[in-house]
Amino acid sequence: MVAIPPPTDTIPKRIFDALAAVKQQPRPHLGGSLIGHDCDRWLWLSFRWAVFEPFPGRVLRLFRRGQLEEFQVVSDLRAAGLTVYEYDQKTRRQFTISDGHFGGSLDGIVTGVPEAPNKMHVLEIKTHALKSFKELVAQGVQASKPMHYAQMQVYMLKRNIDRALYFAVCKDDDQLHVERVRLDKDFALALVAKAHRITTSERIPEPISGDPTWYQCKWCAAHSFCHEKQPTKETNCRTCAHVTAKPEGTWHCARWDAPIPDVEAQIAGCDDHILHPDMVPWQMQPSEDGLTATWIIDGKPVLNTSKPEGFKSREIVANPSACTGHPMIDEVRRVFPGAEVVG
Ligand code: SF4
Ligand code: SF4
Repeated sequence: MVAIPPPTDTIPKRIFDALAAVKQQPRPHLGGSLIGHDCDRWLWLSFRWAVFEPFPGRVLRLFRRGQLEEFQVVSDLRAAGLTVYEYDQKTRRQFTISDGHFGGSLDGIVTGVPEAPNKMHVLEIKTHALKSFKELVAQGVQASKPMHYAQMQVYMLKRNIDRALYFAVCKDDDQLHVERVRLDKDFALALVAKAHRITTSERIPEPISGDPTWYQCKWCAAHSFCHEKQPTKETNCRTCAHVTAKPEGTWHCARWDAPIPDVEAQIAGCDDHILHPDMVPWQMQPSEDGLTATWIIDGKPVLNTSKPEGFKSREIVANPSACTGHPMIDEVRRVFPGAEVVG
């Protein structure tokens, strides 16, 4: 008897594919939700849009569930008699923090917390799977979720509020855990200083470990970059050798001697993009005018330039070996000027 194979075109698959197909806009700033991450290199690579974490549709749906839970929690808190401010009365927008390239958005500000009814609290809402929720209840947010703790600390510091209310929901059975957190000013200031140091650093920070099996590296989206000498695949302005992140929160391009105005322009970049030397594993020979670079790939020189005698950054990262001088590729480029290596 022949078993009938299960269908591959299922409704869940279609939903996950649809979610995964939506182009995710990279975050313009280094976010408060990330600043407690242990690896400075990961923070720098994320901020520089050098490595993106490819989330599958199921995980994106999970994120959406977390966001939707925020509405429920706000409604529950109001039902419990607390006052929740979701928006800044002056700007009519979500409460935010912003300091140079560092930023974030608060879930809200609450008053009427039974233990301190007149005090304002920064509100942070998180959902947890059962295992994570149990650890949270047993150890508290500082020990079990240090990134959430760090996030609340910088939000408190920047909003000048000395308490936070951490509201956790267990996704498995709707248990709730609510915890009050005090501002630790020195710790929060150190986190803000860390954000400034990382965002304005021209060079890549050291890895948290040189061991590819290290627990934090094992599942990191930059694993192949850090431990298998793979180059970045991204050729936006933030991976370009000509760019500088200015301390006040802007970006400047040395090639065109101009500020790069917005996220769309930074995503697009330009044909004169030169790969940042810390984003690729190859030895570099800079040109005298600083406008091009020569990379030694597979022992051969590859000129990184928008001019026809070399290769654009996007061609080099698409297929480094193909740019090292193949008679067939050279012939195609001669016959079809403007043809590009795409993979
Ligand atoms: S692979 Fe390891 S060292 Fe590299 S960014 Fe990730 S955590 Fe940091
Ligand atoms: S040279 Fe082009 S890609 Fe590089 S920073 Fe300037 S505008 Fe962006």
